[in-house]
Amino acid sequence: MQAALSHGLAASGPVLGNGFGLAGFTGFSREEVCCLALRGVAMNTVSWSDSSTYTNETHHYFSVANVVQPRCVFSPETAEHVSYAVRIFNEVNCNFAVRSGGHLPVPGSNGKDGAVLLVTSKLKTLDVRGKTARIGPGNTWIEVYRETDKVGKVVLGGRLGSVGVGGLVLGGGISFQGPEHGFACDTVVNFQVVTADGQIRNANATSNPDLFWALKGGGNRFGIVTRFDMKLYPLSKVYGGTITYEYSSLPYLLEQVDIFHRQEKDPKTSLFVNVMDAADIGYGQFLEVVLYYGRPSFGVPAVLRPFFEIPGIVANTVSLKSYSKLVPSGREGLPPGVFSHTWRSLTYQRSAVINKEISTIFQEEVKRFRIVNKGNLQPGIFTLAYEPYATGILTASQRTHGNALGLDGRKGTLMLSLLTYSWINRTESATRTAAVKTSVERMKGFSLAMNKHVDFIYINAAAPDQRPFQSYGKENLRRLRYVRSKYDPKGVFSSLQAGGFPL
Ligand SMILES: Cc1cc2nc3c(=O)[nH]c(=O)nc-3n(C[C@H](O)[C@H](O)[C@H](O)COP(=O)(O)OP(=O)(O)OC[C@H]3O[C@@H](n4cnc5c(N)ncnc54)[C@H](O)[C@@H]3O)c2cc1C
Repeated sequence: MQAALSHGLAASGPVLGNGFGLAGFTGFSREEVCCLALRGVAMNTVSWSDSSTYTNETHHYFSVANVVQPRCVFSPETAEHVSYAVRIFNEVNCNFAVRSGGHLPVPGSNGKDGAVLLVTSKLKTLDVRGKTARIGPGNTWIEVYRETDKVGKVVLGGRLGSVGVGGLVLGGGISFQGPEHGFACDTVVNFQVVTADGQIRNANATSNPDLFWALKGGGNRFGIVTRFDMKLYPLSKVYGGTITYEYSSLPYLLEQVDIFHRQEKDPKTSLFVNVMDAADIGYGQFLEVVLYYGRPSFGVPAVLRPFFEIPGIVANTVSLKSYSKLVPSGREGLPPGVFSHTWRSLTYQRSAVINKEISTIFQEEVKRFRIVNKGNLQPGIFTLAYEPYATGILTASQRTHGNALGLDGRKGTLMLSLLTYSWINRTESATRTAAVKTSVERMKGFSLAMNKHVDFIYINAAAPDQRPFQSYGKENLRRLRYVRSKYDPKGVFSSLQAGGFPL
């Protein structure tokens, strides 16, 4: 059997070689066959459960609840390795999952017990010369920004350094520069992607343009992206950081957020807010606003001044700094791999009334959760985030060959609200996921009643039972399904691949 597995990477045709096929693998599961076959790719690309690589990779998740026990871990080093793997998955019909930064806290979305786990950790291309950055999905954003800082430029990516490049861009990607340049996916000029037939393709405005469009919001349904070519923008120092306030400042903070959101004074400025209740783990309740001003400034720029005048400031890290210093690699208190998390989001048209009501619902539901589960659950943290979508992020795709998200600015500026419960063990997901759902459904009910609800689910902030693709609009859904039928007629990425939202 070993001889049959040791072959080169043929560009096409059956990969198990010479009609040997599955017959020689009697007694092995399909996933074991795939793992064994993948050993022929290159030295040290397959790791088994007795190795430290396996342990590290299977624990490389932001949320502890996502930790898995795959049959083996496959760590391709090149697009050719990925191509070979996809052809093996096809031929053997084995289950697989794809993980980049591992930050999507939806269990099963980036790994599955017993399947082959393809990790992008060794796909680390990172070239920021010229006008376009070439970025492998194995990079985290902090790694990317440290390189772009060196050349006085930036690409649009995560606002927390530990997030992975792969998932964020394929889901859209909200960055600090969104108001000026759009979603991160809008700034991609080319995806290098391995499609279901194992072909390594370029998807861009002229080559496979339908796939190019679908990958901008289509998540993991269309292939495995092995390189993102993204526009580089000039950026020297930025003025930004986090202001932390007492919980009682919430009405003042929400008021300023709404004014900032309404006025849209400067597309080089953005922010998001976290309402945090960490009392159960001894950190109390507090508020954070993370501010970004994309120019050097030696004092507080006028557009941000109101946030410095809100009473109850307890800490302030806002200053002039390099971009990689603004975007920490793991926010204090919530580093990757310590807590389990469950989240759910909603979108609505900008409304000070809804912002306020949502915070009230948040507080009431957390209180109720504590009473109902008193003494039965691990201590946890409750977070409500407000993330304004400026006009610029909603309309940029009209200049960049479109994206699949279905947002166009016609409903004015929007707000994304994200509710997250975090706790210190792997169990309890069901109770907390149900509680988060109840809260967000209440919030949604209010925004519907105000006639401001927007049926858009951001895939990168979606709960397992939410349906992002169905929220992109009928025409976009039809188009996505058409593109899938063209590039993946057998549904490899929908049926053999674990995780991902149904399309
Ligand atoms: C602490 C934190 C901060 C965040 N900050 C932001 C933010 O600032 N802006 C924002 O927009 N979002 C943010 N997010 C959400 C984030 O974008 C999503 O969780 C995203 O899925 C993470 O990408 P990843 O590569 O780390 O995740 P993974 O869990 O590895 O991947 C997510 C999904 O994408 C698929 N996938 C990953 N790589 C590939 C690839 N190369 N080819 C095909 N499919 C692939 C996976 O199969 C999986 O289903 C944040 C999340 C967390 C937990």
